Amino acid sequence: MRCRPSRPGRRPLGRYDYPTKFRVFEVVSLAFFAVCFVVFGLRILNEVSDRFAVEVIGGVLVVGFLAFVTADFLSGLVHFLCDNLGTSDTPVLGQKFIKAFREHHDDPVGMTDGDFIEVNADNFFMCLPVLVPSIVWLDVHRHVYLAAYLAVLMVFVAITNEVHKWAHMVEVPSALQRLQRTPLFLASEMHQRHHTAPYDSYYCITSGVLNPVLTRTHFWQGLLRVCRRSRQ
Ligand SMILES: [Zn+2]
Ligand SMILES: [Zn+2]
Repeated sequence: MRCRPSRPGRRPLGRYDYPTKFRVFEVVSLAFFAVCFVVFGLRILNEVSDRFAVEVIGGVLVVGFLAFVTADFLSGLVHFLCDNLGTSDTPVLGQKFIKAFREHHDDPVGMTDGDFIEVNADNFFMCLPVLVPSIVWLDVHRHVYLAAYLAVLMVFVAITNEVHKWAHMVEVPSALQRLQRTPLFLASEMHQRHHTAPYDSYYCITSGVLNPVLTRTHFWQGLLRVCRRSRQ
């Protein structure tokens, strides 16, 4: 996720204002994820259809729901950590993640200038250390529910920045508005609460389903106290 002051011009690999070698890396990451995910997804679909039964479908729906909730929590946790801990000078994570989240608070709409590749490539790339080993080592026949859990988790983690971007669009296309009205995707009004002082809640940016409960229980304030105490 990057924020920038103005819309970049068109170049051979699309609109972007950073070195082409990074753009190539992003395109390759997205393409590799897509190919790997199709392979993994087809294995799961084959397995589920082979043992088609109500309890199997029910089990897949349950683990799918758990993965959906997990993805929302992870989005909130990463967002919380990047907003509250470290600086842009923090090794490894500082420039790539912490800086982007801090700049996002200065210019929330800036991320909407980025195209799909720029906004989402980082998250797709971060799924690869889970997706590739799953294809190589996970026996889908024996662990179909684990495979389904990981597949749904990766889908929602991968699209988190895109959903976050929709929540900041000034003009949201009607099709996206309909998606935002479902519990599956973060609603603009809900996310605005995070961008409202004191900026210390509503960190979840995938679906936002956990935002009300984590806010009501003061989860993030408690976690911040724990983090600060552990650093003393
Ligand atoms: Zn934030
Ligand atoms: Zn935001």
